[in-house]
Amino acid sequence: MRIPALLDALAVLAPTECSGCGAHDRALCDSCRGALTPVPRQIQLGDEASLRVCAALDYGDVARRVLLAYKDGGRTDAASALAPALRAAVVAALATRPSPSPPGRPVRLATIPSTRLAYRRRGYHPVELVLARARLRAAHPLRIVRQTEDQAGLGLSARAENRRGSLRSNAHAAGSDWLLIDDILTTGATLLEAERAIRACGGRVLGAAVIAHTPLRRARRL
Ligand SMILES: [Zn+2]
Repeated sequence: MRIPALLDALAVLAPTECSGCGAHDRALCDSCRGALTPVPRQIQLGDEASLRVCAALDYGDVARRVLLAYKDGGRTDAASALAPALRAAVVAALATRPSPSPPGRPVRLATIPSTRLAYRRRGYHPVELVLARARLRAAHPLRIVRQTEDQAGLGLSARAENRRGSLRSNAHAAGSDWLLIDDILTTGATLLEAERAIRACGGRVLGAAVIAHTPLRRARRL
């Protein structure tokens, strides 16, 4: 059994509390589940608004607590609660892409690779696990070629500089249309770097889908 599945089983067996509000004996209470109802909207990124991102949730208190508990508090059971939001963002991004893909040209989902340190610390890739719960599968055209600083605490231009040239795409990116997938959109520096890397290899990026969007000011509270 893989580590996330083991952790899920543990969360079911052990006494737990709502990952959104702390209510006892519920992995996620009805009120918090309601606050995670997806309402997809679009954000344009880049100097010429080149990348269109669909975000399913605002980064309100419940979404923030659930995502923090999921990513850094060991609450892998929250992947199922976040899956409808990510799925809705993917559907909205595909429905609003600028132009349909030509016949025979597949649309693939691309996740951002975890740093080795982050993967070791968590034991799972947060976005991959939510995708699996949403019954969606990603391809993996990107790899990290340069380690970067933690983005928390960095401003807009520092974040872009920190990510620039950090990703490289493999040759499989060419000939496909790609939708980038991530969990939290802040400034978009990571997604723009992923777009650059895939385009550099001849792939076309249709847009991106994320679970939640937060302005930079709130992200600093992380
Ligand atoms: Zn709750």
